[in-house]
Amino acid sequence: MAEPPILVVGAGVGGLAAALALARAGRRVEVVERAPRIEEVGAGLQISPNAGRILQEFGLGPAMRETALEPQALRIRRAGDGAVLASLPLAAVRERWGAPFRVFHRADLQKLLLDEALRCGVEVATGRRCEGFVQDAEGLRLRLVAEAGAETRAGAAVIGADGLRSTLRDALALRPDDAPFSSGKTAWRAILPADALPAPLRERASQLWLGPSAHVVHYPLRDASIVSAVAILDDSADKGPPAETRTGAELAAAMGFTRWSADLRALIEAGVSWRRWPLFVRPELPRWGRGRVVLLGDAAHPMTPFLAQGAAQAIEDAAALGRALEGAAPIEAALEAYQAARMTRAAKVQRGSWRQGSHVHLRGPAAAARDLSIRLLGGRGMLARNAWLYR
Ligand SMILES: Cc1cc2nc3c(=O)[nH]c(=O)nc-3n(C[C@H](O)[C@H](O)[C@H](O)COP(=O)(O)OP(=O)(O)OC[C@H]3O[C@@H](n4cnc5c(N)ncnc54)[C@H](O)[C@@H]3O)c2cc1C
Repeated sequence: MAEPPILVVGAGVGGLAAALALARAGRRVEVVERAPRIEEVGAGLQISPNAGRILQEFGLGPAMRETALEPQALRIRRAGDGAVLASLPLAAVRERWGAPFRVFHRADLQKLLLDEALRCGVEVATGRRCEGFVQDAEGLRLRLVAEAGAETRAGAAVIGADGLRSTLRDALALRPDDAPFSSGKTAWRAILPADALPAPLRERASQLWLGPSAHVVHYPLRDASIVSAVAILDDSADKGPPAETRTGAELAAAMGFTRWSADLRALIEAGVSWRRWPLFVRPELPRWGRGRVVLLGDAAHPMTPFLAQGAAQAIEDAAALGRALEGAAPIEAALEAYQAARMTRAAKVQRGSWRQGSHVHLRGPAAAARDLSIRLLGGRGMLARNAWLYR
């Protein structure tokens, strides 16, 4: 009897990248997704060169040229008066690290991965929620719930790419006290029409505004006619109405905008509907799996978004998983090799992201010292500091 396929649970960026890597490694793969359709919420995603190189190796270079935008710079600005503290020359990234710095509409990246996975023979079953697994002498089976009722599905291995609140992580029970916990920060996300913004905010650049207890990131998407924006506030500063969405005026009021630059205020006020996204994380795991079941992406290492690395690390996981399962090694050994290749790096990025969260929300003299050190280091120096992430 033919070996059952490898089952990937979750069709986010991590799950689809893993499915594609496994198919390219010659494995039969099926993706199981709880949503009835594969579609991402409207928001942007920055894909740094460490992940971009992998997507290029997956053969997605030409498709990415059509869908991604390559910002020429990252401007770090002081939110209070709009002063540019440093401009990182992102155009130099391709030459130095083998892939450009790209920004995507999430839906575009997800479609690109899905189309290529389907082309490589991956099967995708939507509308199926995974409730756990059974791993015994008879093999490995996923427990699924679909509209028509409960199902089980046999797999040669199970890859849990089911995100922060992963059912498979809970089922694996890899450590006590593993519940998701708040990072103390909340993100507000919106897609804005570029023509509603002041000219300096419409350039083909990513911009990071540093304010007390808050920061804002925005960048243009597609043909630069829309802008993805995210405002992140310390929960202690987030005192507006507790709605799931806010108008720009409500968000500006919550951010205490009397002290912020007029351009930044215009950006926030241009948002008709800002969507709340409380930022949760989970503790580091001592291992990512057991036997033939292993985690990947946010399910394995959810991180705060302050280094813009969550999806990038999921893509790195996918590439390592594909490499581990390319040969004839027994699956259990291959999944151990995958964890050994990835756990130290992912944990380092998780910790780095956490630290960055405090750094970007400093207040008073500490913020002034940080701003001075950014100025002294300059754009090239700031970019060089990211070499450990990008190489
Ligand atoms: C504000 C913000 C900004 C960010 N910006 C960046 C950035 O610029 N660059 C970057 O690299 N990262 C960024 N990230 C992080 C990035 O979004 C995540 O790390 C990434 O999306 C994780 O992908 P994933 O596939 O592991 O999980 P998810 O995207 O969460 O996908 C999980 C999938 O599993 C499915 N699923 C869940 N449970 C089940 C179940 N029981 N059965 C079946 N299916 C299930 C879900 O429906 C979903 O499709 C950002 C995050 C935030 C919050």
